[in-house]
Amino acid sequence: MYITEVALKVMSEHKVCDSCLGRLFSMLGRNIDNHNKGKAIKTSIYISACRNLFKGNCKDGAKILKIIAENGDFKPAHSILRKLNISINEKEFICELCGGLIDKIDEYIHNTIEKLKNIEYNTFAVGVTIPPELMSREDTIRSKFKLPYAEALKRELNRRIGLKMILLTGKHVEFKAPDVLVHMDFIRGVINVKARSIFIFGRYLKLKREISQNIWICNNCNGLGCTQCNWTGRKYQISIEELIGGPILKMFDAKKWKFHGAGREDVDARVLGRGRPFVIEVIEPKRRNIKLEDIAKVVNDSSGELVKIQDLAYVSKSLIKDLKIKAKITKKTYNVKIKVDGDVSEEELRRLAEAFRNIIVEQRTPIRVLRRRADKIRRKKIYSVDAKIISNNVFEAIITCQGGLYIKEVVSGDNGRTKPSFTEILGKKAMCLELDVIDVE
Ligand SMILES: [Zn+2]
Ligand SMILES: [Zn+2]
Repeated sequence: MYITEVALKVMSEHKVCDSCLGRLFSMLGRNIDNHNKGKAIKTSIYISACRNLFKGNCKDGAKILKIIAENGDFKPAHSILRKLNISINEKEFICELCGGLIDKIDEYIHNTIEKLKNIEYNTFAVGVTIPPELMSREDTIRSKFKLPYAEALKRELNRRIGLKMILLTGKHVEFKAPDVLVHMDFIRGVINVKARSIFIFGRYLKLKREISQNIWICNNCNGLGCTQCNWTGRKYQISIEELIGGPILKMFDAKKWKFHGAGREDVDARVLGRGRPFVIEVIEPKRRNIKLEDIAKVVNDSSGELVKIQDLAYVSKSLIKDLKIKAKITKKTYNVKIKVDGDVSEEELRRLAEAFRNIIVEQRTPIRVLRRRADKIRRKKIYSVDAKIISNNVFEAIITCQGGLYIKEVVSGDNGRTKPSFTEILGKKAMCLELDVIDVE
C-alpha cells in the first residue's frame, strides 16, 4: 500500500507527470524506467478507485479519479468522470516537478545530433543545466512526503539523454576526457557542443634564419602597419608557429592553434640536429583521426624548406607544463661562428675550451632583451666548448650548456653583464656571426 498511498498524497497537492512520479520511487523495482513505473502506479490507483465505484463508494472513488485526472493527467480517469458528469479542470497540464522538461528531451537530443553532424568524435559527455526552482521544489517534495527512494531530475535527464544518444549515434560516453562535450541549457534553451583540444608533440628543425618562433607583431605600430614594417604590421614575416600551425589547422578543420615551444632560439639562429621539442594545441577540431605521418608530410611539404617537423606523437595537455619546466634545465648544444678583433690562435682556443669546461656562467639579462624581460641574474652551466679555427679571425665553437643561457652574450660578454665570456678569456673582442641550435635534449 505504501507506494500508491504516498503517490496519491503527492498528487493531491502537486501536478506530477508519469516520469516524475516514477522517479520518486526510482530505486525500487529495477529495470523498469521511471515513465513506466509512474504510469503503473497511476494505473493501480485508478483500478482501486474503480473498485470503490463498483462497491457503491462513489464519493471516494470519484474523488480519487478527479485527483489522478487533474494532477496526474491520467486519461482513462477523464472519460469515466465525464460519464459520471463530474466536471474537471481541463487547463493545460504542466508537471510541477519537471516543468515539462522531460517531454523536451527528444527535441534536445535531435538538435544536438544535428550540431554534431560535421564533427568527428568517438566519445562524448553530456551536462545539463535546469532551473534552480525545479531543484528546490523537488527537494521540498522529497522531504515533505519522505521519499527516500527518489532520484534527482538532473540525474534522470543526464542518464536518459546519454543512453539515447549512445543508441542514436553509436558513440560512447566518456567522462574524463570526452572528444566532445555537450551542454544542454534547459533554462535558456541553448545547446553547446565543444570538441576537446588535441595536443601533438613534435620536434622542429628551422632550416633558414630570420624566422621567429611565434608571430611577432611590429613594435612600432602594434600591428596596424607602418613604414618600418612595410605596412605588414609584423616585425618578422614568417613564424615557425604559422608554418606548423597553418597546415594543421586546415587538416583538423580547427578553430585555432596554440604553439608551445621548449624554449626558443634567436630569430637569426637555425635549429638543426634532432630539432627543438614543441607541443601544438589544436583547438576545437572538427576532425581528429589523422595519421601522424600525414601531418608531418603535409607540414613539411608546405613549408618551402623553411621548417621540418618530426617525431610526432599525440600527447596529453600535461606535457606542455613538463616541456616548459624542462626547457630551462635540459642540455642544449649550439654551433656558433665567431669573429674576433685581431687574429686567433690554436693555443687561445685550447685555453678557451679549458676555461669553459663544466663551469657556471653568471648572466644578467642581456641588454637586447631588457625591454621584454625582467633584469635578473641567471646562473647556468656550460658543460663544454669545442672550438676550431676557420680563418685568421673567425672560429667555430660547439657549445654544450643548460637551457636558458643566452649564447651570443657568452661570446661577447655583453659589456660585462655575462661572466665569464669569450671576450674576457681571449682578451679581445669576440662577436657571434652565426648561431645554430644543433641539439635539444
Ligand atoms: Zn514531470
Ligand atoms: Zn609597423
